[in-house]
Amino acid sequence: MSETFCFTCTCCGKRHQGSPSFAFLAPAPWLEQPAEIQARGRLDSDLCHYQDGDGEHYFARAVLDIPIHGVTDPFIWGIWVSLSRQSYRHYLAHYDEPDINSTYFGWLCNYLPWYPDTYALAASVYPLDRVHRPSLTLHEADHELVHDFKQGISMAKAQQIAELCLHRSAD
Ligand SMILES: [Zn+2]
Repeated sequence: MSETFCFTCTCCGKRHQGSPSFAFLAPAPWLEQPAEIQARGRLDSDLCHYQDGDGEHYFARAVLDIPIHGVTDPFIWGIWVSLSRQSYRHYLAHYDEPDINSTYFGWLCNYLPWYPDTYALAASVYPLDRVHRPSLTLHEADHELVHDFKQGISMAKAQQIAELCLHRSAD
């Protein structure tokens, strides 16, 4: 049996409806760049690249689904992964008509709330159709996020993480 996720928030007392979904607007390394590097680079809702003293850096926004036990829709993270130059170019070349037979290797480039350091966890990136961002699968690692990706999380844990995300700016 599946159902819709909803809970009464212990922070604001409101009823939050639907499986949680949180997205990062940029990869973490981008935010550390000075304005002149950002100005020569690119950041939009799906793609990011910049060049600094180390060379060129390429990123794509993707989707990580964490199953919630007993609920139809997963907990969704919109997160950035770094791609090789070759993968990024391929992704860009097929942007309007994604190559669903391709898979890219990527490193997670955001720090997810709740979890121990999620930066640079290894992932596979699977392009989907043109209206959906690529989906991620995490590679094996001894990490809570990888465990949750594989095993799913309880509704109680989903609520705790969602409350943290929804209200952390109010702290
Ligand atoms: Zn709330």
